[in-house]
Amino acid sequence: MIIEQPAIWLRWLYPRATWRMDRNEKAVYLTFDDGPIPEATPFILDTLSQYGIKATFFMVGDNVRKYPELYNKVVAAGHRIGNHTFNHIGGFRHTITTYKANADKADQLLHTDLFRPPHGWMRWDQYIWLRRKYRIVMWDLVTRDYSKWMTAEDVLNNVKRYTRNGSIITFHDSLKSIDKLHYALPEAIKWLKAEGYEFKVFD
Ligand SMILES: [Zn+2]
Repeated sequence: MIIEQPAIWLRWLYPRATWRMDRNEKAVYLTFDDGPIPEATPFILDTLSQYGIKATFFMVGDNVRKYPELYNKVVAAGHRIGNHTFNHIGGFRHTITTYKANADKADQLLHTDLFRPPHGWMRWDQYIWLRRKYRIVMWDLVTRDYSKWMTAEDVLNNVKRYTRNGSIITFHDSLKSIDKLHYALPEAIKWLKAEGYEFKVFD
């Protein structure tokens, strides 16, 4: 299985989640997971602002509690916010009750209708519940910027290799990824622009 581009069978696990946007439109949706943190978010915001791009940040509630000023900056810059639970918890390790409570706790700080499950997994009952309240956004391409086996050049090459019309592209607003993003994010944006892609956020 290719990790970067989720297989069709995986997409069918959560058939009503959003994996890819309009395939007839030359547009991409940049998403950043796990922030906000002082070591990464300011660089990402500066880069997006330099290129006049809006993106979506799937935030961890506990990070927003620690760094409310960063959350405010992301909102003030006009980006879209998504819920990524309060403690970045994996659905399979939790009952629906604790999972739901953790997502709700995050929502008290985040105020959003978008949700992305940490680690890309949730149990079916959690998915059914979440779907009632949120639009669940997965991805068409994960850059693997979090991986210690990847270089910044590899991350950029993943963007070049797998981006297509309507791709939802996942980066990470985290300590694991930021060294790679210093190079890969501006280069990826330049390449996407040169290829004629528009940058969009979810309605
Ligand atoms: Zn995450």
